[in-house]
Amino acid sequence: MNQSKEDYSALLARIRQVRPESASQSEDRLKLPAPRTMVSGKKTFWINYMEFPTILRRDPDEFLNYFRSQLAINASLENGRAIFMGRPDKQSFSALIQRYLKDRVICPVCGSPDTKLEKNKQVLTLLCEACGARSAAK
Ligand SMILES: [Zn+2]
Repeated sequence: MNQSKEDYSALLARIRQVRPESASQSEDRLKLPAPRTMVSGKKTFWINYMEFPTILRRDPDEFLNYFRSQLAINASLENGRAIFMGRPDKQSFSALIQRYLKDRVICPVCGSPDTKLEKNKQVLTLLCEACGARSAAK
């Protein structure tokens, strides 16, 4: 019994070594919740907004700016919720979160999500804490 348990974990360790880190695995590691939104009148409330910049270790305003410019609608933060002055459909939020990961979180060199975003003279740079690469962020 003990022997087979050891074999199993040795096998798992071997599989982990063999399998290269891909971007999709890294995204899984981030464990992001689904965006919860609510439409009221002409506004859309993103109720669990704060969970996203917190998990991604991003500035809540910078994160919101990304959605503001991609959706081309105004938005503001209020009590941890994001309020959009329009009614983008639900899929837009999920799709934009995935695009944000690709543009500003996942290192294009090694696929790690352990990165920092630096802003210098309006230029965004992605700094990878895993491999040290500096990449241009969109
Ligand atoms: Zn990297």
